[in-house]
Amino acid sequence: MRKISYKAGQFTESVIREMTRLAAQYGAINLAQGFPNFSAPDFIKEAACRAIRSDINQYAVTWGSAALREAIARNYQRFYDFEVDPESEVTVCCGATECMIASLLAVLDPGEHVIVFEPFYENYGPDAIIAGAIPHFIALDPENDFSFSRDELRELCESLVHKGGVRALILNSPNNPSGKVFSTEELQWLAELAEEFDFYLITDEIYEHIIYEGLHVPIATMGDARARTITISGLSKTFSVTGWRLGYIVAPPEVASAIRKMHDFLTVGAPAPLQDAAAVALDAPLEYYKGLSKEYGARRDIMLKALSKVGFRVWAPKGAYYIMADIAPLTQKTDVEFVRHMIRHVGVATVPGSSFFHRSERGANFIRFAFCKTIELLEKASQRLEKL
Ligand code: PLP
Repeated sequence: MRKISYKAGQFTESVIREMTRLAAQYGAINLAQGFPNFSAPDFIKEAACRAIRSDINQYAVTWGSAALREAIARNYQRFYDFEVDPESEVTVCCGATECMIASLLAVLDPGEHVIVFEPFYENYGPDAIIAGAIPHFIALDPENDFSFSRDELRELCESLVHKGGVRALILNSPNNPSGKVFSTEELQWLAELAEEFDFYLITDEIYEHIIYEGLHVPIATMGDARARTITISGLSKTFSVTGWRLGYIVAPPEVASAIRKMHDFLTVGAPAPLQDAAAVALDAPLEYYKGLSKEYGARRDIMLKALSKVGFRVWAPKGAYYIMADIAPLTQKTDVEFVRHMIRHVGVATVPGSSFFHRSERGANFIRFAFCKTIELLEKASQRLEKL
C-alpha cells in the first residue's frame, strides 16, 4: 500500500460538497452549497455560444485573454475608481478558488505565518496547508456584529515578530458564512496594521456585488495598501456561473508575475471561450449589478422570516448569500447531527457550522443556509422547515 502525503492527511474532503451529495441521495432541497439553481443571464450565455461558434477553442494567453483583462480593469475603474493595469496587474484563473491557492503559493514560504478571520470559507484552511503555511485564527464575534478584537490581532502580530513575522492576512468581505461586510474604518485599520507589520493583504471579494447594507470597498484602494494587496474576485457569483470556473486577481506587477507562474503550472489557463463571454458580461449595465443585490435581498428576507418563525436565532447578512443560524434554541444535537437529521427527515440540506471554524467546537451551535435559489424553491424549503 502506498502512503499518501503528509499534507493530504491534514484535511478532509469539503464538508460543503459532501452535503451536496447527501442532499442528492436523500432528495433534500440543497441549501448547502452556494450555487444558484436558476439560469445565468442570457447575455453571458449568448456570448459564450458565439465564442465557441467562432472557434475560440485553443489556449488563451496563460494569465488571461487581453479582452477579459481589459474588461476587468474597466470594471475596477467604473466601480471603485481604481486604476489597474491589465497588462501587468491582472491574472485570470480557474475560479477564485485557484486565485487563492495560486496567490498563497506565490507569496508564502513553508513555515510562514498567515492570519485568517474565523468563521472562514472552508477552503482557506486547506489552502494554507497546501502552501505549507501556519494559519492563525482571529474570531469574528457573532455577539458583536462579527467584529474582531483589534487588541487580539495586534498581540498576535507582535507575538509572531520573533518567529519570522506575519506574512499574510486573508480577508473575505462580503463574508461567507457570516454575511459581514467589513466597514471602511475596519479596512483602514487593517491596512495600517499590514503596513506596520509588513504583511500581504489577500482579499477574497467574490461577493462584491451582493450587498444589502453598507458599501463594498476594496482594501487595495485604501491609502498605500495596493502595494501589498492581492485582490481576488470572479464571475461565479456575480453572473451565476459557478461551473464556468472563472476568477481573477489584481496584484502589484512583481507579485502578479509570481502568481502567473504558479497559475501557469497549476492549470495553464482558464477556459478560453468562456473568457470571451466573461469580457462581454463584465461590461453589463449598472442596472444589472444593482439588480443582483435587490433580487438576493428579497430571497434573504424570505429565508430570514422562515428561519425566525421556526425558532432559529439568525444573523441578517449584510452581504453575500448565506445565513448563519444558531440551532441551540431548537435542539441539543451538534451541528453535524442536526444537519444530517434535517437532510433525512426535514428534506433540507445545510452546512454544519463547524466546517467554518478551525476549533470545530466553536461552530457546533451553527448551521449555514445558502439562499441563492429561486423564490419558489426557498418557499418550498420554508414549508419543509416547519416540520422542525
Ligand atoms: N470564495 C468564497 C468566499 C466563496 O464563498 C466561494 C464559493 O462559495 C469561492 C471563493 C469559490 O469561488 P469560485 O467559484 O470562483 O472558485
